[in-house]
Amino acid sequence: MRQRVYLDHSATTPVRPEVREIIDKFMGERFGNASSLHEFGREARQGLNWAREQVATAIGANPSEIYFTSGGTEADNLAVLGVAWANQERGRHIITSSIEHHAVMDTCKFLETKGFRVTYLPVDAEGVVSLEKLDQVLDEETILISIMQANNEIGSLQPIKEIGERAWARGIPFHTDAVQSFGKIPIDVNQLGVSLLSASAHKIYGPKGTGMLYLREGTPIHPLWYGGSQERKLRPGTENLPGIVGFGKAAELALAEMEEVAGRLNKLRDRLLNEIKTKISGVKLNGHPTCRVPGHLNLSFMGLQGQELLTLLSLKGIAASSGSACMAGASEPSHVLLAIGLTPQEVQGSIRLSFGRDNTHEDLDCILDVLPELVEGLRVKDWSFEGNCSC
Ligand SMILES: *Cc1c(COP(=O)(O)O)cnc(C)c1O
Repeated sequence: MRQRVYLDHSATTPVRPEVREIIDKFMGERFGNASSLHEFGREARQGLNWAREQVATAIGANPSEIYFTSGGTEADNLAVLGVAWANQERGRHIITSSIEHHAVMDTCKFLETKGFRVTYLPVDAEGVVSLEKLDQVLDEETILISIMQANNEIGSLQPIKEIGERAWARGIPFHTDAVQSFGKIPIDVNQLGVSLLSASAHKIYGPKGTGMLYLREGTPIHPLWYGGSQERKLRPGTENLPGIVGFGKAAELALAEMEEVAGRLNKLRDRLLNEIKTKISGVKLNGHPTCRVPGHLNLSFMGLQGQELLTLLSLKGIAASSGSACMAGASEPSHVLLAIGLTPQEVQGSIRLSFGRDNTHEDLDCILDVLPELVEGLRVKDWSFEGNCSC
């Protein structure tokens, strides 16, 4: 069988063996309902409490401030809608950024149809929101700030602490979508001044369909569902125990290995970037050059279609993804790449390469072996003159 190289860890990650083991245990012998009073229930409850502690520890929160959800998307929806519904009497203004994940952006767009006013903060060419602009748009009616910590497409990190200080000073709930940063960089919700934070298990070698919302004690919020007292009535329904303990295990291991993994991934990323730049002309790094999530690259190859390059890479067994369309087959150009001001040519030529803990230098050899030739073959003639044309 041909070798397969996975360089799309921002989309999802493989479930690591230690996580599969604990999931299996809670699918099997420890199958109880965490609400039951008998021994089976108690064993499940212990697993639930243990997982809550792991996840809370990873962000410096109290376990009682962690609410398990079905993933990052649900956590983002619960944060934005829940805070909007709970505070609409106080004001109807929400501040977010122009590069949010759709789970936040589309939720804000929906709220606009319900009479809320939403400000989408612009970002600079490196994908970082402007604090100056934030200061200008904050007003008496602002009831929520929602700005992601690390962008999924371009990897840029946002000045969360500085935003948190502003939100804190005015008593405005501040939500951050930390799905791409949780378990990868140190996070302390008190230092950052955030009141809500979303994370997802499957981006950190846990199972799909499990995530969490951190909600600071005392933050007003409305549930989106009703029917049971699980998760302090904020997220009713029998808990997904196998998923939750899997998330707990993944968070525990991510925290323990964070520094070592980040260092290794950044070395791989730097080597790939340097060698690509030496071997191939007309390549641009998108996003912030240094202030970015570990092991993440978004590159624009001038004069070709990123989608075509991805298809050819895929035929060689190399899995990367598009920075220009979130879902395969989507034809809308990326709102993130447009927001950082890329030319149409740069948007079209963009691909995302995101490394994970299993990647090796041999994986990079594989891609470096084929990439220069593939890029050359796809490039239109005279590509370097494209875009410079003033006619
Ligand atoms: C993946 C992702 C989500 C969605 O999380 P799911 O668990 O897949 O629903 C939300 N925000 C960001 C930044 C993501 O990368």
